[in-house]
Amino acid sequence: MKSKLQQEVGGCDRKATRRNMLQTAGLGGLSLAAMHSAPVAAQVEYTTQNVRRSSRPSDLKITDLRIAFIHQAPMRVPIIRIDTNQGITGYGEVRDGGSPKYALMLKSRILGENPCNVEKLFKKIKQFGGHSRQAGGVCGVEMALWDLAGKAYGVPAFQMLGGKYRDKIRLYSDTTISRDPDEYARRMKARLDMGYTFLKMDIGINQLRGERDIITAPLGFDWARDRDTAHPFTAIQLTDKAIDRLVGYVAAVREQIGYEVPLAADHFGHFSVNSAIRLAKALTPYQMAWLEDLVPWQYTELWQQITAAVDVPTLTGEDIYLKEPFMKLIEARAVDMIQPDLASSGGLLETKRIGDYAEEHGVAMAMHFAGSPISFMANLHCAAATQNFIALEHHSVDVDWWEDMVTGPMKPLVQDGFAAVPDGPGLGIEIVEDVVREHLMPGEEYFAPTDEWNTNRANDRLWS
Ligand SMILES: [Mg+2]
Repeated sequence: MKSKLQQEVGGCDRKATRRNMLQTAGLGGLSLAAMHSAPVAAQVEYTTQNVRRSSRPSDLKITDLRIAFIHQAPMRVPIIRIDTNQGITGYGEVRDGGSPKYALMLKSRILGENPCNVEKLFKKIKQFGGHSRQAGGVCGVEMALWDLAGKAYGVPAFQMLGGKYRDKIRLYSDTTISRDPDEYARRMKARLDMGYTFLKMDIGINQLRGERDIITAPLGFDWARDRDTAHPFTAIQLTDKAIDRLVGYVAAVREQIGYEVPLAADHFGHFSVNSAIRLAKALTPYQMAWLEDLVPWQYTELWQQITAAVDVPTLTGEDIYLKEPFMKLIEARAVDMIQPDLASSGGLLETKRIGDYAEEHGVAMAMHFAGSPISFMANLHCAAATQNFIALEHHSVDVDWWEDMVTGPMKPLVQDGFAAVPDGPGLGIEIVEDVVREHLMPGEEYFAPTDEWNTNRANDRLWS
C-alpha cells in the first residue's frame, strides 16, 4: 500500500504527464522541451499552423446557418456562416445581388448533416438552385461546405479538388465607365499601370443614351422596360453612328494601352443579332479578347450565328447554373470561350467540372466574379485547380475596405493584377467581425439567429 506522500506524488506525476500530453498535442506533436530548444522560426511555424487537431471529421455535424448581409462592396452580398458541433465555422456567400432567402431555405435540408460530404449535400440541395442569382444559395452553401471540410481535415480547398495548376491567379479588372472616350482611356491605362495584365471595358448603347440617331427602335421606346426585354424582342438596331461612337471608345482605349494587353468588352445593351454582328465586325481591328453576352446565353443558335459570322472571340456563361447548359453551348461550338460565375454555376466542384469539360473540347474558361473576399477565395481555389483557366474578374478594385473583411492569406490579396492561392485549411480565411459589422446593409444584423428556418414540411423528392 502506498503512503499518503507516495499517492500525492503519483497524483502529481499523473497530472504532469497529462499536462505534458496536452501540451504536446497542442504543439502539433512537438514536446514542450523540444519546442523550447527549437529555432524561433520552427516554433512560430508550429504554433501558427491553423490545423484543428481537436476535430473529428467523421462526427462533424452542421448545427446552424446564419447570414450577414453587406452592401457597397460595391455589390450587395449575403455572407453565409455555417456552424458545427465541433466549433468549426465555414463561410460562403450568395451571389452578389441575390436574396439571402436562397440560402436560408436550405438550412432545414442540411442541419445535422456532415459538411465533409460536400458532393452528397450538393446533390441533395441542387434542386433548389436556378440560373443566375437563384443559384446563389446552393453555390454559397457549397463554398461553406468546402471551407468546413478543409478546416476539419486541415487541407486547402484546391487540394481537395485535385491540386494546383498555378500558385497565383490572373485577375482582370473592371473599370468605371466614362462617357468621355479620353477619360475612359485614362482610367483603363491606370488599371494597366496598377499591374493588371488583362483588361475589360463596358461599351453599350446606354452610354449613348440621350444622343440623337443612335438606335432605330419602335417610337416611344422605353429604356427602363428594355432592361427586362431580351435582345431579339426589343427590335432595336444600331445605326452606323452608334457603331462609330462605340468603336471610338475602344479605339481611344487601345491608343492608351497599346495592343499587347488583352482587352475584353461587355454590357453592350439589348439589340438585334444583326446589329451585334455589325458591331463585332467593326471591332475586329482592335483585337478584342472577347465580346460578352451579345445575346442571352439561352439562345444557342443565335450564338452560333454570331460566332460563325465574326472573327472576334465570343463568350457567355455568368448566369448559367450547372454543367449541362455549358455542355450544350460547347458541343454546338456556339461560343469561343465560357465564363461561369462560381456563385451561379454550382460552386467549386461543379465549376471545375465545367472547366474540365470545356478543356476537353478545346474551349478556355474565364471566370466571372463580383462579390466579397469569401467568394473570391472560393474562385482562387477553383481557378488554381482547373487547367484551362484564363483570368478571374475583380470588381472591387476601388473599394478600399474590401480586403479588410477577411484575415488569413497574405495581404494585400491582390497585387500587380494577381492573387496568391491561399494555403490555409478550407477557403483559407476568417471573417473580420468589425469590418463586416461596419458594412452591413441598413437594418441588418450580424449573423442573427435564423431559427424560423430550422424545419420545413415539404416533400422535396423530384420523382415517384
Ligand atoms: Mg458580364
